Amino acid sequence: MKRLLLAAFAVLLTLPALAAERVAVPRPANFVTAEEWGSKPDPLPDSRRHTPRFVTLHHAGVTWTTDRDPVTFIRNMQAWGKRRPEIEQPPRDTFWADLPYHFLIAPDGRIFEGRPLEYEPESNTKYDLAGHLGVEMMGNFEEQRPSPAQVESAVRLAAWLVSKYDLPLEAISTHAKVAKNQTTCPGRDFNRYCQGDPWPFRTWVEQVLHGEEPAIELGEPLEGGPTVLITETLPVAKP
Ligand SMILES: [Zn+2]
Repeated sequence: MKRLLLAAFAVLLTLPALAAERVAVPRPANFVTAEEWGSKPDPLPDSRRHTPRFVTLHHAGVTWTTDRDPVTFIRNMQAWGKRRPEIEQPPRDTFWADLPYHFLIAPDGRIFEGRPLEYEPESNTKYDLAGHLGVEMMGNFEEQRPSPAQVESAVRLAAWLVSKYDLPLEAISTHAKVAKNQTTCPGRDFNRYCQGDPWPFRTWVEQVLHGEEPAIELGEPLEGGPTVLITETLPVAKP
């Protein structure tokens, strides 16, 4: 009898865990579809189809300045991918029929739809691309700090994808971690949220998965920088 009571107590103890079950996370509100921004991809071959299993975070690695326009930036990247065989040297001269990333997040938090989710991404680094959903944040976080809106969109987007494909939190990673010793992407000022136990970024995603508001807290500027916010990076004056 005593054992039975203990068993019943154990069941009661698990109830709070059940209450924290995942909710179905909706697509973030500030979403711009490929059609809306005027995407013009070439067809992707069936050989590039994959099943999404990972959400992999990137930065563009290009310093963002306040005079830039996100839509122009994305259109140029898509056009460049298709022209790589003509303008790039090997091994960067492979043809990219569409954007290398599945999503691109602007400094104002807008999420632009890139490559269709059913196809693996592209990369100039070496790792098994199948299964990865590439989420790129515009800017260079070695030299500038992400905006709060950009980080919040990355969290809500990752939560939507993890929810949509029923992935574990550990499916969220960074380019530097999946392509070891090849890149610092997504940059010093973002990587700090993707380390420790648990990662702050995964904790914020988990909060969204539980139907809560993510308690995102961005740290003070790191010693040695970067110090300037992406939304405050002025264009370099032309001579
Ligand atoms: Zn990257």
